[in-house]
Amino acid sequence: MRIEVKNLTYKYGVNTAFEVTALNNVSLTVEEGEYLGIVGHTGSGKSTFVQHLNALIRIQKGQGSIKIGDFDLTSKKCDLKALRSKVGMLFQYPEYQLFAETVEKDVAFGLENFFDMSEEEKKQRVKDAIIAVGLDYGKIKDRSPFELSGGQKRRVAIAGVIVTKPEILVLDEPVAGLDPVGKRELLDFLDEIKNDFVKTIIFVTHDMNIVSEKCSRVAVFDKGSIKYDTTVKELFKKTDELKEIGLDVPCTAYLVNQIEKRYGITVDTDFTIKDFAEKTAKLLKKC
Ligand code: ADP
Ligand code: MG
Repeated sequence: MRIEVKNLTYKYGVNTAFEVTALNNVSLTVEEGEYLGIVGHTGSGKSTFVQHLNALIRIQKGQGSIKIGDFDLTSKKCDLKALRSKVGMLFQYPEYQLFAETVEKDVAFGLENFFDMSEEEKKQRVKDAIIAVGLDYGKIKDRSPFELSGGQKRRVAIAGVIVTKPEILVLDEPVAGLDPVGKRELLDFLDEIKNDFVKTIIFVTHDMNIVSEKCSRVAVFDKGSIKYDTTVKELFKKTDELKEIGLDVPCTAYLVNQIEKRYGITVDTDFTIKDFAEKTAKLLKKC
């Protein structure tokens, strides 16, 4: 499913003293199968934007349009239940959304509205989702989600979202608060579920290293607008511009920048660690 957002504006506290324009005329198209990164300073509108994608926040009257596949989110007739089974959303600190007494029941909750699915099918779906996020189904299914580690809780929460096999998975700051191992594991299993469980991934993050390794494209939000919508390779050439809007660059971009400044040598890389290492090794051999 293709996502087409046009001229989206959103204000909190309309007609009050606290009115805030969180989004200002944002347009963005995401093709099926993309791994899109969304970055930006705190308060730049990222969460407000992604919450529109499964209609947790509704479009304000006359303030733009969103189409996702055949769903027209501007329309009052838009089937929100169907939409939400196709656009899965994982919030920041999703472990706080866990509530059931066992992992299995928690994950199964996502299928609650799937009335035409047999109990057996549901059980299988739940099992598949738990395995897909790298957990041992047999060992974990009857445990309380509350007694699991932080990384495990987060995976259970993700299983609860992908159990409906959403075509689009939106993750809002999913690695915040995870240790490096938990972070790496989460990224690895996202790679595994992409294609089998989900097609498109939209990843909101502050972590530029993740963006450079995983995303094919990046949208940079700044004060409610999209400042850049480009490939990773193009974006991280703009080290100084990114710093100006309070954003970091991946370690590879930092190194490229330093090599260029100090030695006048340009490393033409896509900023993944693998590519950066290969290109630098080639340059070293030439020297
Ligand atoms: P980000 O996710 O990039 O940090 P947000 O979408 O959360 O940005 O916030 C965008 C702007 O909207 C900020 O100025 C923020 O203070 C404001 N905002 C966010 N949520 C609310 C809310 N529930 N009520 C009022 N203002 C809000
Ligand atoms: Mg946010």
